[in-house]
Amino acid sequence: MKVLIVEDEAKTGDYLRKGLTENGFVVDLVRNGVDGLHLAATGDYAVIVLDVMLPGMDGWSVLRELRKARDTPVIFLTARDEVEDRVRGLELGADDYLVKPFAFSELLARLRTLLRRGRNTQAEAALSSADLELDPVRRRVARGATRIDLTAKEFALLYLLMRRQGEVLSRTFIAEQVWDMNFDSDTNVVEVAIRRLRAKMDDPFDRKLLHTVRGMGYVLEERE
Ligand code: CA
Repeated sequence: MKVLIVEDEAKTGDYLRKGLTENGFVVDLVRNGVDGLHLAATGDYAVIVLDVMLPGMDGWSVLRELRKARDTPVIFLTARDEVEDRVRGLELGADDYLVKPFAFSELLARLRTLLRRGRNTQAEAALSSADLELDPVRRRVARGATRIDLTAKEFALLYLLMRRQGEVLSRTFIAEQVWDMNFDSDTNVVEVAIRRLRAKMDDPFDRKLLHTVRGMGYVLEERE
């Protein structure tokens, strides 16, 4: 699941990126409002963490512009605990806010709440294809009674394939969704990751679920 962080303070931004990455999110981090708005309006993010005080274009302007195009959930960060700031953010269409300094665990809890809400309810439901099951909340994967241990990237890759099962996903799309925006999609990292994933969740089993569509990409589906 992709998160965009728009935060100019280097320490806070790096700390949030590290924490969210460790918790299984794919994180893009930008340090000004203009880049933030561009990515927010064009990228496919599950949630956006937006600082209010930014150089050039501030967080309020980013939010106002973004809401003309998209309703991606936004949680804004403010340094001042003042009612008018909170009201302004919520009026502009933010979904939640945090006052700095905040504990990382609180941000994580708020993000998870936002993701569970409304149209993202599906995102937290367990997924299955034939005997393959993936539980995104407990981060567990199994085939029948056999537990399958995956790395964070393998898990993210399988989660994406299962959410979009039956659809052929291109390497470029997979790279964008599972790795961050600095990832070089010309490399064969996706292929290698697919091979490793397959070795764990498909090769040991008779029934194959992850298929290569030559020249196009990969698809997860039950085939007779
Ligand atoms: Ca700031």
